[in-house]
Amino acid sequence: MKKITYIIVGAVILSLFACKTDAKKTKNGKLNVVTTTTMITDLLYNIGGDAINVVGLMGSGVDPHLYKASEGDVTKLVEADIVFYGGLHLEGKLVEVFEKMEHTGKKTVAVSDALDKKELIGSEYFASNYDPHIWFNVTFWKQITAYVTNELKKLDPKNAGVYEENSKAYLEKLTKLDLDLRETISQLSKEKRILVTAHDAFNYFGKSYGFNVVGLQGISTATEAGVQDVQELSKFIIDNKVKAIFVETSVPKRTIEALQASVQSKNHNVTIGGTLYSDALGDKGTVEGTYLGMFKYNVTTIVNALK
Ligand SMILES: [Zn+2]
Repeated sequence: MKKITYIIVGAVILSLFACKTDAKKTKNGKLNVVTTTTMITDLLYNIGGDAINVVGLMGSGVDPHLYKASEGDVTKLVEADIVFYGGLHLEGKLVEVFEKMEHTGKKTVAVSDALDKKELIGSEYFASNYDPHIWFNVTFWKQITAYVTNELKKLDPKNAGVYEENSKAYLEKLTKLDLDLRETISQLSKEKRILVTAHDAFNYFGKSYGFNVVGLQGISTATEAGVQDVQELSKFIIDNKVKAIFVETSVPKRTIEALQASVQSKNHNVTIGGTLYSDALGDKGTVEGTYLGMFKYNVTTIVNALK
């Protein structure tokens, strides 16, 4: 069934391309930019500002690992001048769509190409062999900001000055974000820096800020947590006196609730410390709907619950 969907989507792409060979003449003369996750959409808002049209395929609370392109998405992709996606198999079900688009000559950019592979965390769960949750390393996000800025400048040189100026201002905000996060985290003693969540989205976060990160569901939500995992992890929580565990906005909370029940069945208590944004930002128009706001919210929630 999956194969058939891919074939249909592929056929739709190819036929749409056949009738629209040059999509560069966009509304208001602005560059038409299509993005996948809300993190990348937010980045493009910040760098492109009013100079570009940004269309994000995924909304808040959407899990990129499981996301499939709709026919409407395919139309948006075909009308794009450039497409930015995460890569490293983050959008596992869209890989074939992007590959087909590349064959047609459409400009597609995996933002993870900005990074040195040697800096990435390896992972057997993804076909890329790397953990794709790169936005939880602010240094990476800065490198990606510079990379995306460069791609926009190449495609739209008349607005190069705008992109550069926006990029510079945003890089300063990211530097300040990192300092603010470190200050908040410094309230938490080293032995309390244990983050237990539904899936392994936070490995880069852990590496950046000295947390031991344990995910219940493996690194992609495409794999389910087994009974064995729940038993082992509940023992770990009790042994390490972990006060709180966390649910995520883009992952069903039943696995974390099962973990809490398992700890309680052993006559110990662990609270659910809050809901973290992992693979999607909050609603558009809210503070958590931005990368900066999301990161501060997550860190404040984690620190307050584990203190
Ligand atoms: Zn994930």
